[in-house]
Amino acid sequence: MMKTLDKPVPPGGTIGIIGGGQLGRMMALAASRLGLKALIYSDLPDVPAFQVTPLQLVAPYDDRATLSGLANVCSAVTFEFENIPADAVEFLGGLVPVRPGAKALATTQDRLIEKNFVAGLGLKTAPFFEVSSPQQAREAFGRLTGEGILKTRRLGYDGKGQMRAISADDAALAFQALGGAPCILEGFVEFAYEASVVAARGADGSFAAYDPPENVHEHHILRRSSVPGRLTPAQVEEAKAIAKKIADALDYAGVLAVELFVGKDGGLIVNEIAPRVHNTGHWTLEACACSQFEQHIRAVAGWPLGSAERHADAVMENIIGDEVRAWESLARSGALHLYGKADAKPGRKMGHITRLKPLGR
Ligand code: AMP
Repeated sequence: MMKTLDKPVPPGGTIGIIGGGQLGRMMALAASRLGLKALIYSDLPDVPAFQVTPLQLVAPYDDRATLSGLANVCSAVTFEFENIPADAVEFLGGLVPVRPGAKALATTQDRLIEKNFVAGLGLKTAPFFEVSSPQQAREAFGRLTGEGILKTRRLGYDGKGQMRAISADDAALAFQALGGAPCILEGFVEFAYEASVVAARGADGSFAAYDPPENVHEHHILRRSSVPGRLTPAQVEEAKAIAKKIADALDYAGVLAVELFVGKDGGLIVNEIAPRVHNTGHWTLEACACSQFEQHIRAVAGWPLGSAERHADAVMENIIGDEVRAWESLARSGALHLYGKADAKPGRKMGHITRLKPLGR
């Protein structure tokens, strides 16, 4: 029988989290602080989130028996990453409330659907064109005014599944290099800098947005988020309004992040929606009374949202690969979070550190 969520999940109840990386781990810790239990479902053993909760399932994400077991034990289910097989989510959604729901996943799992959705809300995006053949790649390039980026419609992250194209031939070759998977070709945006907005929407439509940080990427991986960044007060309000418009249109419950390009003319261009807690919101753990992780668990469990007010200026830096060897000196210089990963592979996010300053100094 389908479980419903007419009332909040009371303390002692169990929230299911699909995915066992650092985001699942920090969500489980937040749930625990609220007196809720977190059950982690991962397709791999030994994942970071297993270190913080005894409630664990290991199976492929489309395993029906495990999904049924998850639904039996949990009052609500959420996820830490958006690439869960759609039919698994549909199956699970027939048994237990899944937040955010199928609409948010279906929209954000496919870059073409996502871009059409964002443009349909009247928000700015980079120019984009569907590409399903080398010929279409050439034609799409011809419609751009400068360089382009070819991106696979599905399963890309941290720059994977993306290639720059500086000519029509290049675009066709990039399409082949990406394995002939369905793609979009985006116009390359000569932005001033990148920013993002992390916000929460409750199932009752309540809304709380954090101040948008300015973000710096290196080799396609987030290096640093600083809040405040260079956004003006008007841009801060506009970024929060963009997040609200998207969350309302998706009938969203939970935390979402909207990645933005800030144009040289000051305009905000939507790059991507992440239907989950986000690396650019980690600073909220120290700088806000209610972090993005707690906020997400509150929304999933049907609790009232907390305050997203910021009490300090913050700079969050990721600790990537070998950098984790300096943990001792890092521990002296800020609020250190290590994710419990044994293997410091290049490009792997091993932890992060947040440094605070009093507001506005
Ligand atoms: P994405 O996977 O779409 O979030 O892209 C990862 C990163 O690649 C972004 O954070 C940007 O730094 C860069 N990027 C992606 N798309 C564009 C674009 N259309 N124009 C310029 N830079 C881009």
